[in-house]
Amino acid sequence: MADFSVAEIREMLQCEGQAQQELFDRALRLKKETVGEGIYLRGLIEFSNVCRKNCLYCGIRRENLAIERYTLTDEQILDTVRFAWRQGYGSVVLQAGERVSKEYEVRIERLVEQITTLSGGALGITLSLGEQTAETYRRWREAGAHRYLLRIESSSPELYRRIHPDDSLHRYEDRRRALDALAECGYQVGTGVMIGLPGQTTDDLARDILFMKGLDIDMCGMGPYVECAGTPLSERSLAQGGGTQEELQERLSLTLKMIAALRIVMPDINIAAATALQAIDPMGRLRAVECGANVVMPNLSPREVRANYALYDNKPLAFDSRILERCVRYGERGDSLHFKKKKK
Ligand code: SF4
Repeated sequence: MADFSVAEIREMLQCEGQAQQELFDRALRLKKETVGEGIYLRGLIEFSNVCRKNCLYCGIRRENLAIERYTLTDEQILDTVRFAWRQGYGSVVLQAGERVSKEYEVRIERLVEQITTLSGGALGITLSLGEQTAETYRRWREAGAHRYLLRIESSSPELYRRIHPDDSLHRYEDRRRALDALAECGYQVGTGVMIGLPGQTTDDLARDILFMKGLDIDMCGMGPYVECAGTPLSERSLAQGGGTQEELQERLSLTLKMIAALRIVMPDINIAAATALQAIDPMGRLRAVECGANVVMPNLSPREVRANYALYDNKPLAFDSRILERCVRYGERGDSLHFKKKKK
């Protein structure tokens, strides 16, 4: 596999017009040749918006007192999993704000075991539950979870510090350690970044791609930064004239180029078409599929709680079902080809 330089990736991220179309075509071709044309479904269950953290960009940060907090019961979660299973989903994603306690560890372990049992082990289980100890990750892995998403948000330690509070709960080094621990536990590891952050340069993004390559990730979920009203980062961004329609379109375009570039640098990983793309453009996720993404994560959380999991403004509450008219692989887990090759 060719090694790419920052300059080569920068060129991909800065291309426009015909060159951009060629980039997208190359990524799409590569996707079809490696992971195939199929799109894998992950039923997303956002089961709690309670979070101990205070990330400066996030709508469910601890200090946001304007939202109603919720946590689904085990039965509500399992009902949603059964629904996903009946609808032909090959995998589910359990996602929530970050919580750390013995009781929580045991609860998730039990849920993962129940999901494994109800599908006879056929349903893929992805967790996206933030930073935990290596021991907790190991317990959940042994219970049956086999993928884990933990976004680094920015691989630049400096930029990471600018978008998180400066305290012991939000250390870049801890995030990195958690990603390493996940790989050591045998998960298919996914990470991702936000694109279009205030002060972020094209070279930062090029280095994000090389970071993911260096980490040898199996999956990626990355999306445009979308301001969330009332958060410190949004206020900073708006004060600097950010968040205009024009700028959001630029972030969308840059995200599509990031997806294409990542597909070219890491052809056999799974890449998700992030929900945030659809917050900017109703066709956003579909466009991502057409330039390299091969995973979509329709939100299956009960409708009455969806609005309370607003990580950013205009978060779509419904899925653009035009994607389902594409080559969707129902009933298949869609494990990362990259991960399978590593295990051989
Ligand atoms: S980004 Fe994640 S960890 Fe940070 S406040 Fe939001 S839900 Fe919590």
